[in-house]
Amino acid sequence: MPRFAERLAAVRERILLTGRDPAELEIVAVTKGRSAADAAEAVAAGVAALAENRVQEALPKLAALPKAEWHLVGHLQSNKVAQVAGRFRLIQSLDSVRLAELLAGRDAGQRVLLQVNVSREARKSGVRPEEAVAAARAISALLPLEGLMALGPAGTDPGPAFAELARLRLDCQDATGRALPVLSLGMSGDFEEACRAGSTMLRLGRVLFE
Ligand SMILES: *Cc1c(COP(=O)(O)O)cnc(C)c1O
Repeated sequence: MPRFAERLAAVRERILLTGRDPAELEIVAVTKGRSAADAAEAVAAGVAALAENRVQEALPKLAALPKAEWHLVGHLQSNKVAQVAGRFRLIQSLDSVRLAELLAGRDAGQRVLLQVNVSREARKSGVRPEEAVAAARAISALLPLEGLMALGPAGTDPGPAFAELARLRLDCQDATGRALPVLSLGMSGDFEEACRAGSTMLRLGRVLFE
């Protein structure tokens, strides 16, 4: 078995040990810093989607693997909106109503997740948890909003932050009157906690590629 496929199988084993069914979780391989060949190996091994965090690095890889499903997971600057609208299956890192207005203006039906800064760290993007419900209501009137995304806190137990995002998803569903099925939580260092908190989508880099 190729190395990537072995690492993917090991991740699925660890998901199973948390009590979750790996088939219920989408695994998104984060390919930042990896080659297009690495990304192709991930697709061949059966990951659901690929993700990049910078538009500049993403566009050549999208061109190299146009049939793959690509997500954007890093902060999107407003001056890049024209370059990305409609190119990514999902923009997970939408972090303002203003950006949603700009994307909606491109008329590409861009699917998005609302990024929430549940760890309340100044250097992380995302709307403040207190603003999430209002932002979700405004954004869902502009674009197909599919759920919420967050990064775990650095260096501390991610449990409380993850539980807060899971709660906010339900609040946002109530407020918008729409199903928001996606809870994008969990990276290499904290995906097991994310599984236990109800994640539906893991964003994994190092644990799959190294
Ligand atoms: C890089 C990155 C990941 C993956 O991180 P790993 O620790 O390598 O698994 C997930 N989400 C975002 C937003 C990232 O930038």
